[in-house]
Amino acid sequence: METMEIDSPTPSSGEETKAIVVILMGLPGSGKSTFCDHVMRSSSRPWARICQNMLLQVFDEMSQRVSSDLVGFITLLRLFDLSLTLLHHDTINNGKSGTKLQCLSSATSALKEGKSVLIDRCNINKEQRVDFLKLGGTKVEKHAVVLDFPAKLCISRSVKRTGHEGNLQGGKAAAVVNQMVPKKELPKLTEGFARITFCQDEKDVKESINVYGLLGPLDSLPSGCFGNKNSDTKTQLGIMKFLKKVEPSSNAGSEPTISQKLIPNEISPGKDSGLQGTKKASDLTGVAHKKLEEAAAASDNIPTLAFPSISTSDFQFNLEKASDIIVEKVEEFVGKIGKAKLVLVDLSHKSKILSLVKTKAEQKNIDSHKFSTFVGDITRLRSQKGLHCNVIANAANWRLKPGGSELDIATKEKADCLSPGNALVVPLPSSSPLFTREGVTHVIHVLGPNMNPQRPDCLKDDYVHGSELLRKAYTSLFEGFSSIVKSGTEVHSTNDDHKLKREAAYEFDMNKKYKGCEKDPQPGLSDFRDVRKIPDEKVSLETTKTWGSWAQALYNIAMHPENHTNVVLETLDDVVVMNDAYPKAKRHILVLARANGLDSIADVHREHISLLKSMHDVGFKWAQKFLNEDKSLSFFRLGYHSAPSMRQLHLHVISQDFDSGHLKNKKHWNSFNTPFFIDSVDVIKELDEVGKVTLKNDKFLSMELRCHRCKSVHPNVPRLKAHISSCQASFPAALLQNGRLVSSEDNTNFCE
Ligand code: AMP
Repeated sequence: METMEIDSPTPSSGEETKAIVVILMGLPGSGKSTFCDHVMRSSSRPWARICQNMLLQVFDEMSQRVSSDLVGFITLLRLFDLSLTLLHHDTINNGKSGTKLQCLSSATSALKEGKSVLIDRCNINKEQRVDFLKLGGTKVEKHAVVLDFPAKLCISRSVKRTGHEGNLQGGKAAAVVNQMVPKKELPKLTEGFARITFCQDEKDVKESINVYGLLGPLDSLPSGCFGNKNSDTKTQLGIMKFLKKVEPSSNAGSEPTISQKLIPNEISPGKDSGLQGTKKASDLTGVAHKKLEEAAAASDNIPTLAFPSISTSDFQFNLEKASDIIVEKVEEFVGKIGKAKLVLVDLSHKSKILSLVKTKAEQKNIDSHKFSTFVGDITRLRSQKGLHCNVIANAANWRLKPGGSELDIATKEKADCLSPGNALVVPLPSSSPLFTREGVTHVIHVLGPNMNPQRPDCLKDDYVHGSELLRKAYTSLFEGFSSIVKSGTEVHSTNDDHKLKREAAYEFDMNKKYKGCEKDPQPGLSDFRDVRKIPDEKVSLETTKTWGSWAQALYNIAMHPENHTNVVLETLDDVVVMNDAYPKAKRHILVLARANGLDSIADVHREHISLLKSMHDVGFKWAQKFLNEDKSLSFFRLGYHSAPSMRQLHLHVISQDFDSGHLKNKKHWNSFNTPFFIDSVDVIKELDEVGKVTLKNDKFLSMELRCHRCKSVHPNVPRLKAHISSCQASFPAALLQNGRLVSSEDNTNFCE
């Protein structure tokens, strides 16, 4: 019988992770090991799972009380039918506490190696947890994940299981669970936990797995209590979040509970409806109760769009007219979005637009469950006010800072510019603070008309055109949200959901894509460009780049191709071949190096030449295969991006038609058609001659758009695409040399 298991992937070299210790808590059968398995399987963070054998845990615990509870102890031994095996272990481990000590020392070693640790044991009460909370000192955060399932369920699960690693199954299991139930003591922040997650059903568990599974090596999670402690009152708890605020705390001085932490300060724009700290729940008026319920319901897992009033602040659109349009468009859309909700948000109680809209919406009898107004910072609705909106709108005349650079990059992936009246849906990378802290899965950028003469492209007093554009902006925004709702995106996305979301690019240009982009300036266009001014320096050329968790997908596939058979085309000892998820041409695949520690071409040195030759040869073989299968393809190029967006060295093998809906913007085009793209043959040559690769400046990404064949310049991507679909000019001489271009005639391009 094993006393302890350590199960961990090797951490990537040179990476400084912020290690954490996650202490699982739950009865036997609550799914602790499954939780650990899932997290470790999906995570790019190095983890060690420390698992103390179940019977020895009980033995440990009982032995501490042996003098006072000898009969119980003996009964337990009989019950478990353990005596010989267990006592043998006991002797080996020099006393029962040794088994726990062994766990502690293994956890300490894992932390020293830079791994995070999952403590997979019952940890049912404070006493059992206390030593694990000391691990790593104050530098290492301790988290608790509580799998708080009913004892009945845990018993039925553990009674049924077979082949359990700790031999805790059948009748023994039921006895152990029953033994533990009375001792159950939920963890508190005051024990020393930075974060506690309470899971009461499979959905909670899935969410928590997702949170830890998506946690990149350098990511951290917000502190506090998450999830509900009481399984029967989910909806009620939402309301309690608000009531708690007005009830003087009965347990003043004790640690904050989830309910206390997520209290909104205000729930409606009206002065008198704000809940004052001294008011008792019982004093609340019917109206206040209704508001509480509305706000609480919005916190439930119902897709909710929070949006600001478009164009009424900086762009000075007339408030009366704007409020009419908002109410008109809300009325039109509430019937089209199923259970989903719309919430108009403004920062201040004094907001005129909120009160106008509120009054007009009431006059029109718009269902208050579907539409409400709310006072708060749209980027902090959940953390500050307890209102969870999975989608937020960014009226694109300001930069959405809390989205982080991840949002900037994701936005830039989708489009270069936005014209007034249009909206652009951007799935939020999971590393964005808006995602991790606020639970926002999508941001919809939307641009309205500008009526402010101090700002560029003012429409002056042309309210006919202005109103038309404002209606169009709301229509685009709500259609964008409606598509997210229809795509079935849950408020709390799973890992796979998130991938799908990233895959889906929603663009809601009423006049079809990119009309107005890169043409003459349109009202407000320059603002959007401002908003989206994503510093090119962000694409770092340094080797020590920090990768967000969304940038880890290729790394995860290279390390565990067996878990990604849906996208993997071929797995060899040193490389994995896969389809690019967002192909920029008819055929676009990636050849990934499997070596750990090679994040990008910047990490490659002379000793990697043979690996790069293998990558080239495999890529070349696949290019030939595609050329043979489809005569329309004609040419391929094989090469690397100077500053890739995704971690793990990967070779692009891409057909030269660039006929793909995923090729949307200048950056996409220029990353494959300027010196930023370094041909594989040149990389190998330079490594051979100089020992390292000269990386090209990312300024190339913002160069003008030139046809890769005839080199003619084009004003925007759609025009360029129209041109290349018919350009038959021969490729530039440089591309025709040294095997940079692979054609169907070419079968001699293998590297020596
Ligand atoms: P690079 O700019 O060289 O880092 O290229 C990364 C490539 O990975 C791009 O062509 C993306 O389309 C592609 N990509 C991004 N995410 C994924 C994913 N999850 N699976 C497969 N390919 C991806």
